[in-house]
Amino acid sequence: MIPAAFEYIRAGSTEEALSAIAEHGDEAKILAGGHSLIPLMRFRLARPEVLVDVGQITDLSYINDDGDHLAIGALTRHKDVETSDLVAKQTPLLQAVTSAVGDPQVRHRGTIGGATAHGDPASDIPSALIAHRAILVADGPNGKREIPVDDFFKGFLETDLSPDEMLVEVRVPKAPKAKWSFQKFNRRAQDWAIVGVSALVDKNQSGVGLVNMDSVPFRATEVEEAISSGANAKDAAGLAAQGCSPSSDLNASAKYREHLARVMTERALAEAGL
Ligand SMILES: Cc1cc2nc3c(=O)[nH]c(=O)nc-3n(C[C@H](O)[C@H](O)[C@H](O)COP(=O)(O)OP(=O)(O)OC[C@H]3O[C@@H](n4cnc5c(N)ncnc54)[C@H](O)[C@@H]3O)c2cc1C
Repeated sequence: MIPAAFEYIRAGSTEEALSAIAEHGDEAKILAGGHSLIPLMRFRLARPEVLVDVGQITDLSYINDDGDHLAIGALTRHKDVETSDLVAKQTPLLQAVTSAVGDPQVRHRGTIGGATAHGDPASDIPSALIAHRAILVADGPNGKREIPVDDFFKGFLETDLSPDEMLVEVRVPKAPKAKWSFQKFNRRAQDWAIVGVSALVDKNQSGVGLVNMDSVPFRATEVEEAISSGANAKDAAGLAAQGCSPSSDLNASAKYREHLARVMTERALAEAGL
């Protein structure tokens, strides 16, 4: 279908983008790679009156080594994360997860900021951000603020960002020595996950993020606690479906998703050396 009519504003800088979303409030939407927003607009599930295109703001496309974390600009394309030596060395889980997103065309357009700000529980990237305990940086009329990933996802396609805020940076704690695994269950290689698991196993702290197991990207807290208490992969993974409410759809029933979460988590933890 053809999207409903909208006004188009191309922002040349973060300041211009912030001023446009401040002026138009709820009626405006930021357009980054467009690979989630445009399909929603074509189905008329989203009908923004104003689109603020931030795709030309090159200042927000970077991957920097910033002490204990990597600072990744919100407009960094998946392809740049996937091919970054810094990401491969310091946060290899994020690299593996990003490489599993869609196909090369999607990865050349989609951005880490868009994949996060969209708040889609079916998106792969938030699972890695959960496992890493990432910090999201928003900019808005009151300046910048840091949001821990656990406070960011509020509901289905809903985040902690207010309409006049923009996600500008994703901070991913380095974990070069942690063991990790990403498991994605789908029918064809380029498909979305029916269920996915990001696991980071470290002697100090482990992180397990699940894809498509709730209305929000989900932290498998009970699995993490079991790992800290010394459980093996099978016993810890047995708790993977605790506390979440997956949906039923054409791909899988909720019960089957719960089964998959346990199986894929066990595979992930075993691959991560637990
Ligand atoms: C065919 C296809 C297959 C795909 N397969 C997968 C897959 O297997 N796994 C997966 O994880 N994803 C998949 N995707 C989604 C892809 O990763 C998208 O790129 C991503 O979800 C959204 O990024 P974007 O930059 O395109 O965001 P957009 O579509 O431009 O924006 C998405 C939402 O985020 C908001 N937004 C964007 N940037 C910001 C910002 N900086 N601050 C505040 N709000 C912002 C927008 O207003 C919009 O509401 C697929 C997409 C397609 C089209």
